Amino acid sequence: MARVYNFSAGPSMLPEEVLKKAAAEMLDYEGCGQSVMEMSHRSKVFDSIIKSAESLLRELMNIPDNYKVLFLQGGATTQFAAIPMNFMNNSGKADYIITGQWAKKAFGEAKKYGDAVAVASSADKTFSYIPKTTREDFRQDADYAYICMNNTIYGTVFHELPDTGDVPLIADISSCFLSEPLDVTKFAMVYGGAQKNIAPAGLTIVIVREDILGNARDYTPMMLDYKVHADADSLSNTPPCYTIYICKLVLEWIKSIGGLEAMAERNRKKAKILYDFLDNSKMFRGTVVPEDRSLMNVPFVTDNDELNAKFVKEAEAAGFVNLKGHRSVGGMRASIYNAMPIEGVEKLVEFMAKFEEENS
Ligand SMILES: *Cc1c(COP(=O)(O)O)cnc(C)c1O
Repeated sequence: MARVYNFSAGPSMLPEEVLKKAAAEMLDYEGCGQSVMEMSHRSKVFDSIIKSAESLLRELMNIPDNYKVLFLQGGATTQFAAIPMNFMNNSGKADYIITGQWAKKAFGEAKKYGDAVAVASSADKTFSYIPKTTREDFRQDADYAYICMNNTIYGTVFHELPDTGDVPLIADISSCFLSEPLDVTKFAMVYGGAQKNIAPAGLTIVIVREDILGNARDYTPMMLDYKVHADADSLSNTPPCYTIYICKLVLEWIKSIGGLEAMAERNRKKAKILYDFLDNSKMFRGTVVPEDRSLMNVPFVTDNDELNAKFVKEAEAAGFVNLKGHRSVGGMRASIYNAMPIEGVEKLVEFMAKFEEENS
């Protein structure tokens, strides 16, 4: 069976090399006579898998030693509550920028635990841009400021970080994790679910500066206390072992193609092919202001709902799947994460051109 080009927003494509390697090692991982799915998380073999995953991630992202890398479960959504429980612990204030559903959900959780304020929002224009802020917008006694770096549903990204002054910045990077170099030192914490760019669902990676750990509220469940996981090297309880193993394979794959600089170059090239087509098409257009366009998620529309539906249907029949836009935006969305080959985007654009010709 031929593999399709999968434009899903997540879970999403994995590199074919990784799937093949995982398949080859499925029954017998490196001669130990077991699958990674079966082995104890306390075994020597698994210990070397999780340690390599961490050291590869540190190397690729250039993560300084004063940051902890945690391999957790619960998805990005669980961190929406864990973040205020762990960090809203001095003034009890936190400032959020609302750039879409994921930021809004995170904000909703924070409001339960303290004085969370939305300092800016792009809700007025269906989150089609990143709102501008200045240092003065942030309360300088806030315990942290929060952004969703890449907005998976709306297709915007912070190309520049907000200036929050002395307020520690926390970012959800679920849908842009490892897509380009990121200066981790600009953040107190970044985190994301793995199922967009790193691995199958089930793993959440947290990268957090050590000095802000250890002040979680008393009622914080042990499983949501980052210090507990940091002290136990992510082995406080059973971690998502197989997903961590796939994560390791993906990190090896990224390293093999030249690391994050090379990844970014590939991603810029892919996104340019698609945006250039959209900017020149008479039928299709992107929905995001050009300066805030994401490299990972590209929403687009025609001016006609029926035509949108026809396009999604015909694209699927031609092997381009999961192009339907999120229900809150409609139209289409092509998620072109790291694992999407350049050829997938080129062929999609050829298909769009043909569709435009046949339907105008
Ligand atoms: C997918 C996504 C989430 C939700 O992730 P879960 O792992 O399903 O909880 C949160 N934030 C962003 C930016 C996402 O893309």
